Amino acid sequence: MNQELLKWIRPEIRALRAYHVADASGLIKLDAMENPYSLPAELLAQGLAGLSSAAINRYPDPAASVLRARIAKVMQIPACAETVLGNGSDELIQMLVMAVAGEGRCIMSFEPGFVMYSMISCFVGVDYVGVPLAADFSLDIKASEAAIARHRPAIIFIAYPNNPTGNLFAAEDIERIIQLAPGLVVIDEAYQPFARHSFMPRLESYEQLLVMRTVSKMGLAGLRLGVLCGRPELIAEIDKIRLPYNINVLTQQTAAFALGHVDVLEQQAASIRDEREHMLQQLAKQGGVEVFPSQANFILFRILQGSADEVFNSLCAAGILIKNMKAKDGALKNCLRVTVGAPEENKAFLAALGRAMKR
Ligand code: PMP
Repeated sequence: MNQELLKWIRPEIRALRAYHVADASGLIKLDAMENPYSLPAELLAQGLAGLSSAAINRYPDPAASVLRARIAKVMQIPACAETVLGNGSDELIQMLVMAVAGEGRCIMSFEPGFVMYSMISCFVGVDYVGVPLAADFSLDIKASEAAIARHRPAIIFIAYPNNPTGNLFAAEDIERIIQLAPGLVVIDEAYQPFARHSFMPRLESYEQLLVMRTVSKMGLAGLRLGVLCGRPELIAEIDKIRLPYNINVLTQQTAAFALGHVDVLEQQAASIRDEREHMLQQLAKQGGVEVFPSQANFILFRILQGSADEVFNSLCAAGILIKNMKAKDGALKNCLRVTVGAPEENKAFLAALGRAMKR
């Protein structure tokens, strides 16, 4: 390849490591916070039959009106708020960052945190400030206050619960940050079905607040659908950035159908919550690991004896894929993250971990 051509790619993009998605073929997949359950066969058949009438020769409804109305009801979006949909909440993060990017602007979030906030800031060419969490992964309010005063961020992203740590920040700490923020505050509630706490009702109280949800962790990750909720004036501005027809026909129809049966998805989330508690108890009994509390559908744990890389590799060899945080130092040093799967998957993981720790 002619190296001169590559010079046209911005240096910060060339310096990036692409977001890595591991090949899970043949493995028990506990790396990506997916819901292990599909829709029951009967419902799935009904949904698929409905798709036979989908007009795939036509562009989709650009406003996705039917789907948005269903989402507003299911997610209990307050009357003061409007919504804009994204091709996954990742796309909403991108739209938000693009809407504020400019000279002297910055994006703020907390570390360790969801990598897309900083990666998308880099793609868009806007500065990113990551404020370290306290040692117990709670929000460090003093450090946050100082960082907000110093950097005056255009957007503060707060994942509630947080990824990859799994904990739920104290609501009063978040409220303090909302009150201090000079710009927008996005509460990213991707894992809300597992925590059952939400800032949605607070949209009434704070104009600067936006609440983001996704259907990915509810059991519909393959559809790629995220929702941003906030004051109509703000949502109207974000909506200008949205590419027309970003939510395809099949997603609009399938998501509206599935959300019409939200009780089924809620039952699945409830059994995942039960399994999480069981796994937390079992992991606590496993010697040589430190387990962090979780209100999400995944658990972060640290290998205290031996190396996380070795444990990760031996789990892979046993047919189980989890996430290696690949940190040699810092807050995530020697940490691994496992998604809560179906009971038999979790059992296989715990047994394989027990064997790996004995080596
Ligand atoms: N926010 C958080 C905190 C996440 O962990 C994830 C996915 N890992 C997302 C947003 C993106 O979700 P999606 O694009 O699937 O809606």
